Amino acid sequence: MTDTPDDTPISKEWNYHPELPLADPSVFKWPPNPMYLMRWMGRNWLMLSERVIMAILAVALWYFAYPSLEQAKSFSVGWVVQVWVINLVLVGGTAGGLHWYFYMRRGQNKQLKFDHRDQAKKNRLWNFSDQVRDNLFWTMTSGVAQITGFQVVTMWLMANGYAPTIEIAQNPVWFILGLMLLPIWSAFHFYWVHRLLHVPFLYRRFHSLHHRNVNIGPWSGLAMHPVEHLLYLSTLMIHWVVASHPIHLIFHVIYEGPGAIMSHTGYEDLLIKDRRRLALGTFYHQLHHRYYECNYGNQEMPWDRWFGTFHDGTTEGTQATKQRRFKMYQK
Ligand SMILES: [Zn+2]
Ligand SMILES: [Zn+2]
Repeated sequence: MTDTPDDTPISKEWNYHPELPLADPSVFKWPPNPMYLMRWMGRNWLMLSERVIMAILAVALWYFAYPSLEQAKSFSVGWVVQVWVINLVLVGGTAGGLHWYFYMRRGQNKQLKFDHRDQAKKNRLWNFSDQVRDNLFWTMTSGVAQITGFQVVTMWLMANGYAPTIEIAQNPVWFILGLMLLPIWSAFHFYWVHRLLHVPFLYRRFHSLHHRNVNIGPWSGLAMHPVEHLLYLSTLMIHWVVASHPIHLIFHVIYEGPGAIMSHTGYEDLLIKDRRRLALGTFYHQLHHRYYECNYGNQEMPWDRWFGTFHDGTTEGTQATKQRRFKMYQK
């Protein structure tokens, strides 16, 4: 894999894919290897990674944009609408900005784009016969409303002492550790909720809406059925039981909202002057969108490897996945 990839298609199936079989970039390696752990820390937390950007944004939004816990003590239209508007801008800005850059301005043509195709138009599969408008609709209605719902309820619980909170000055170590553990918690939650959504009964009714996006784009990330939004966002309920700071909650909101959008751009990385500047999607989840019954989790935790649902990108992986799917729908 070179650092300055061109846009010549790699195969008939894919315009681009990383080196195969896919490696395991998670922190879970047995026996633990201190050198590897240090490199993992450096890659994720000691440079300007997407995770660090999300944490900085969370701090800025807490101090300058979202209402305070003082205001959140009792429900009123003012501060709830304030949270909703900020989330509309946050989610709409991320998806709109990435869509504009990749699919309208064609900022890096097809460099590092997984699928050959563009987003679908004039196809009755979609509401409004248009993939982007359809995805935009689900994201900006149920998506933003439910993110806001979970967020304001959690803020209200924190403000009234019903959910445990911490102060940064008193618990600096837990504050930092909390930020590092949230993506791992989220990966655990996502794997199980997502596997549940693939039970044929639930899949047909709810999750198939997200899966119409075989060829994904930024607006696909949060394009889900409202029931899926509810299950997916229930990860935020961890703040109801585990002591956290409102910045943890905001970081978590960014990770689940704009984070899902970033991981569905259809591109692996954002290139600036031909250098990989920001990690976006993963081939791992792109494989899930094409072959369905594999890679239910993400690369944060090796659940799929442990439970035998991992597709490493090779032809053998595709065969195994097709057989699994066949078995599931045979009954
Ligand atoms: Zn997806
Ligand atoms: Zn799925």
